[in-house]
Amino acid sequence: MYPNINLPKIKQLTNLINDSTAIIIGAGAGAGLSTAAGFEYDGKTFFNNFKYMYDKYGYQDMYSASFHNFSSSIEKWGYYSKFIYLNRYQEVKPLYQKLYQIMKDKNYFIITTNVDHQFQKASFSKNRLFYTQGDYGLFQCSIPCHNKTYDNEQQIKEMIDKQIDHKIPHNLIPRCPICHNEMVPNLRSDERFVEDEGWHKSALNYQKFLKENESKKVLFLELGVGYNTPSIIKYPFWQMTKLNPLSHYVCINKNETYIPKEIKDRSIIINEDINDVINIRF
Ligand SMILES: [Zn+2]
Repeated sequence: MYPNINLPKIKQLTNLINDSTAIIIGAGAGAGLSTAAGFEYDGKTFFNNFKYMYDKYGYQDMYSASFHNFSSSIEKWGYYSKFIYLNRYQEVKPLYQKLYQIMKDKNYFIITTNVDHQFQKASFSKNRLFYTQGDYGLFQCSIPCHNKTYDNEQQIKEMIDKQIDHKIPHNLIPRCPICHNEMVPNLRSDERFVEDEGWHKSALNYQKFLKENESKKVLFLELGVGYNTPSIIKYPFWQMTKLNPLSHYVCINKNETYIPKEIKDRSIIINEDINDVINIRF
């Protein structure tokens, strides 16, 4: 069924998962875990939902279209509301559920650059999660005039229900409750990103978990991280693996082959689709 999968490596990974005192998962966005889980930014998903963005402006995928310089907020939110709904409020993907089944009884912590909330939807404990780059499901002030975030589910759904000709009614433009400027999704795209109370709490939980386990048998498990923001997960994982001689580093990512030589004897690169690897464990 999986003719190209490297079975000895998968077996080694299974042993590491079972034998480690702590597992630290680093999960990537973009070309990473969520893509493997079946999030599609172009093709059918794009044309079923945003054909008008192709007809009007020539876009062929959701990601590029999200950078469009919309001429009005009502048109911008017509697009954003559907984009956020598709990426944040749809059902949990089976890949995350399978990962949860593997991890649920282990001593784990997850650091992720994903912003789609899939880990929480798959029942991973929020006390064991650090979403470094924000969440599509939260709004923040665009200035920002204060450090708070707001759940946006109801607002997003209303924008979708009430839009006409891909434009939302003026009164649904999300406004900051303090300064009345427009709200934006809580995503780290520049220095205006709001690190709210929940963000700081999970950053602290992550640091605590690392500290508690720094000299134990730790497995650093990197899933689809790549090189977009390597300083958040990849480079620290290499560094921590180097510092703790009892630790191991495993990277699952299609087309990834590099391991620093200092940690080579305690590392495994599984150059496969994450889906195939997770599926084969069962
Ligand atoms: Zn404000």
